[in-house]
Amino acid sequence: MSLAHGRPYLAIPGPSVMPDAVLRAMHRASPNIYEGELVDMAAAMIPDLRHVAQTEGHVAIYISNGHGAWEAALSNVLAEGDKVLVPATGRFGHGWADMAAGLGIEPQIIDFGRKTPLDPVRVAEALEADTGHELKAVLVTHVDTASSVRNDVAAVRRALDDLGHPALLMVDCIASLACDEFRMDAWGADVMVAGSQKGLMVPPGLSFVFFNDRAAERRAAMKRVSRYWDWTPRANPEFFYQYFGGTAPAHHLYGLRAALDIIRAEGMEAIWKRHATLARAIWAAADVWGSDGPLSMNVEDPSLRSHAVTALRVGAPYGAELRKWTDTAAGLTLGIGLGMSEPDDPMGTGFFRIGHMGHVNAHMVLGALGVIEAGLHAVGIPHGRGGVAAAAEVIGSAV
Ligand SMILES: *Cc1c(COP(=O)(O)O)cnc(C)c1O
Repeated sequence: MSLAHGRPYLAIPGPSVMPDAVLRAMHRASPNIYEGELVDMAAAMIPDLRHVAQTEGHVAIYISNGHGAWEAALSNVLAEGDKVLVPATGRFGHGWADMAAGLGIEPQIIDFGRKTPLDPVRVAEALEADTGHELKAVLVTHVDTASSVRNDVAAVRRALDDLGHPALLMVDCIASLACDEFRMDAWGADVMVAGSQKGLMVPPGLSFVFFNDRAAERRAAMKRVSRYWDWTPRANPEFFYQYFGGTAPAHHLYGLRAALDIIRAEGMEAIWKRHATLARAIWAAADVWGSDGPLSMNVEDPSLRSHAVTALRVGAPYGAELRKWTDTAAGLTLGIGLGMSEPDDPMGTGFFRIGHMGHVNAHMVLGALGVIEAGLHAVGIPHGRGGVAAAAEVIGSAV
């Protein structure tokens, strides 16, 4: 027997759940791409995107996933031979560093492991040692989606400012934008990258590079930037096609318009608070489950955890078995343990992740937790009883 027949729930850290309003907005014939509604709609989205990022700066839109945004951002301000500092706190920090290496940029990685955030003191030491200012940028992953560690972006800004170091602060908010509090201008990020398929609730295929005037100046001083990645015409288009370096991703734009309306209606503060509360419910369940048995949160200190994704250790091969059960028996797809391999568990089957980003509410989280609890029982993973009740208490006393 399977109890999976019903609406499937993809509870992974991207692609996230798409609102029906987004899907409906995309389900239409192709519009006129030369003039009219689509052209007006694209221009009107720029201020809304800025608001989501909490910036007065510029934004360039790309038809790509997050990896494309990584390359786009790097390509505009860094050249072959430039050095960058990368405090890595999981798979995605290393991924961005590798993208840089592919462009001939030299990443200097400080590896903070897979359980703890970057230490601003060690970042400051690396910057201080760079007396010749060879480091042209610091690449920070706000939330590392693999480890679910959340980093203090403003602390890196302070370290740069205290030392008078001119490196750009470039931030990956692909997993955190419109989930975890992020304030681009107030926190002093010069460049920020995001994707459509996480907190923005739109299918994968659009990405965004936000940048300030300082970064624009750096771009202007570059010897050359590939035409396709160049953010200048995308951020200041003379003709409509220049927003996208070619044909507009019309259907994605309709979806994004609908998502931005949903975001505006709820408000950024409320969105951050909802994610924080739902995250606390998940942690409460995990604490109870882990009180007896192998399950534990990957990030120990709650103040250092993402509010959009939670990585849990449950021991090999329990993670893989649990995911298989929730998927096939109950219609709930959980995230794999990405980049979490260990010598005795090369495939990282001892981990799983819960994505709780974007279009997620209390009944979805409680439903997912209920299924996970059923799965712990079905697979035979020892665990403390009453996890869902603990989560329900968090939610019941928060509202
Ligand atoms: C998802 C993600 C990426 C990669 O995005 P893709 O769309 O899969 O290319 C990069 N960084 C972070 C933090 C992410 O969560």
